[in-house]
Amino acid sequence: MEDDKPWTLMCGLVAMDHTNFCYRVCSACERTLPDTATTNSTPSLCNVCNFNSSKPPSKRLFRVLVSIASDTKVFVVICFDRAARVLFGCSADEFFDFVKLHPFAAVTAGKVLEGEMFRMTLSKPKNGNAQHLRVVSVVPLRSGFQPAIETLRELYGVKRGGP
Ligand SMILES: [Zn+2]
Repeated sequence: MEDDKPWTLMCGLVAMDHTNFCYRVCSACERTLPDTATTNSTPSLCNVCNFNSSKPPSKRLFRVLVSIASDTKVFVVICFDRAARVLFGCSADEFFDFVKLHPFAAVTAGKVLEGEMFRMTLSKPKNGNAQHLRVVSVVPLRSGFQPAIETLRELYGVKRGGP
């Protein structure tokens, strides 16, 4: 079992998959909802708890593929909500809403994170079918690091919390 322990490495972020960065879950039980493309707001009924997720709405969680480069190789890892929030600086719902207003924001977020150095803890997927290592935790190494949403707000001139 030693081999399956999470391990930590220094890496640079090479690229982020901005096309598919989140998924919808039932806001009551957090089970994944059938993904009628992450773009619409059609009410879905959670078939686990039968909670009608249209009210209160379902929520989104991050699930992002990122390419990282260690000192020896480049590989793709998957970042779930907790780790991705460090990179994005907001919830997946907030980011999704931002992208709705600024269609290129997801691409830009990838660009602003490119080249940043992180200390990441990775683990082997528990599900044998999952193909990517998952990111357990991520710590930015650059002292001036700011999460993508902060940079995006500056770029797009969005003030936080009004005038
Ligand atoms: Zn549910």
